[in-house]
Amino acid sequence: MDDLLIRGGQVIDGTGAPGRDADVGVSDGRIVAVEPRSPRAARRVIDARGQAVAPGFIDIHTHSDFTLPLNPRAESKIRQGVTLEVVGNCGFSVAPALPGRAAMLREYLASSAPWLPFTETSFADYVAAFPATAVNVVLQVGHNTLRLMTAGMDNRALTAVELASMERLLAEALTAGAWGLSSGLFTAPGSYADAAEIHALARVLRRHGATYSSHMRDEADRVGEAVREAIAVAETTGVHVQIAHLKLSGVDNWGGAGRLLEDIAEARRRGVPVDCDAYPYDTASNPLRNLFPRWVMDGGIPAMLERLGRADVRARLRADIARGGLNNFGRIPSWDVVRVAVAPNLSDEAGRTFGDIARRRGVDPFDAVCDFVIADRGETRILVTSMSDKDVHAISGAPWVTVGSDANSLAVAGVTGQGKPHPRSYGTHARLLGPYVRDLKLLTLPEAVHKTTGAAAAALGLTDRGVLREGCWADVAVFDPDRIVDRATYDEPHRYAEGVSTVMVNGQVVVDGGDHTGALPGRVLRRGGR
Ligand SMILES: [Zn+2]
Repeated sequence: MDDLLIRGGQVIDGTGAPGRDADVGVSDGRIVAVEPRSPRAARRVIDARGQAVAPGFIDIHTHSDFTLPLNPRAESKIRQGVTLEVVGNCGFSVAPALPGRAAMLREYLASSAPWLPFTETSFADYVAAFPATAVNVVLQVGHNTLRLMTAGMDNRALTAVELASMERLLAEALTAGAWGLSSGLFTAPGSYADAAEIHALARVLRRHGATYSSHMRDEADRVGEAVREAIAVAETTGVHVQIAHLKLSGVDNWGGAGRLLEDIAEARRRGVPVDCDAYPYDTASNPLRNLFPRWVMDGGIPAMLERLGRADVRARLRADIARGGLNNFGRIPSWDVVRVAVAPNLSDEAGRTFGDIARRRGVDPFDAVCDFVIADRGETRILVTSMSDKDVHAISGAPWVTVGSDANSLAVAGVTGQGKPHPRSYGTHARLLGPYVRDLKLLTLPEAVHKTTGAAAAALGLTDRGVLREGCWADVAVFDPDRIVDRATYDEPHRYAEGVSTVMVNGQVVVDGGDHTGALPGRVLRRGGR
């Protein structure tokens, strides 16, 4: 007798094929049948009439390593049907933290992981201690973290000895269970690395059959160049490259989505192993300090805070931004499009824009920003509305672009329910499968499901997840295509998505009748299925 039978739903199997009426049998964590009117007996039958039955959604780009230890139930994600999160992105990972360097890493990541305790750890110990969670997890090691461990916040090329040490740390992490390496070349200290450094690390990845994902060097005025740099890593080393959260930031770059997508599609047609992902929002989120030109952070956070208090530094900064726009975000219409998401030391300011804050204080907006960074000790996280709807729709509407929320698993209650974080934590997948399909008609439902299941599994090199097929792991989402919707907004982000009734991870029911069962069947996945 099987464990479960999902009966009477429309199976959208993740391959992009149209939906079909079929039942799905599950036993010992695996899918054992996908067939119409299945005669199989099961201990439990789930009635899915009127609903879609799909593979669990793969959130291919997240930062939930910052919150899963605090929120192992992964509420904001699992309630959208997400069953797998890829973490350790944008160059940021919480391991390894070498002896004497944990405090530096905590300080560096505080604007992204304000509530997470940091301890000295090897990557192997980190994997071993990773908590049981509701979702499956793919871990990556971050290039920025490795560079912090090797050369701190020094703005310079690595010595041969340092590069060798970084390669060794990377190999250790890959052996211990990291799926691959992520980079964050848009901000210090990752931005201090040249292409040769990345190619050297990619050769280590190649030896381990591992992957590379990149928050590129720029997402604004030089985004085309940055895409070419990422593609070159795949082309030169043969390593699979995942371009993270593809976008065009800055008003001067709006309208360029078609060109950017074509550059990547053209490389794919040539057989270059490259994929990209995106989230369906026109607003990004980042540490506030990352909006400044990169030289501000030379030498580390304390050096930056000291610098920002000086009038001559502010004058230079102001001139740099007037000339070149914001780092990674380009030119914005005004500071009214930048709002505080989480300010650990100024929590009452969450939700306010810097336009508001400046007007209330009767100061110039740029001074208000600098004062804020100092008062919040560089830990502020912000939202910046930097993209055009047209580009967002073109990128997220492309059937081959995978889906990454770029956000943490949160919960409406508890430590992760603070501040006004980006609603994408709660809404990315539901927004794509609901409003983007139903209302905007940017793509069909089977295409949308494929983006976040089969296409994502293929990008990761996963062969036993991402499709509903006999023998695959039973990661399953059952949802109502007419009702699935994101409810989180910029003003009220802590709201769960609606329309998902059942979510199964490794054959265990985690969302049942729309509620979390408390089950934590997720596991850290390793290359080769070990
Ligand atoms: Zn990123």
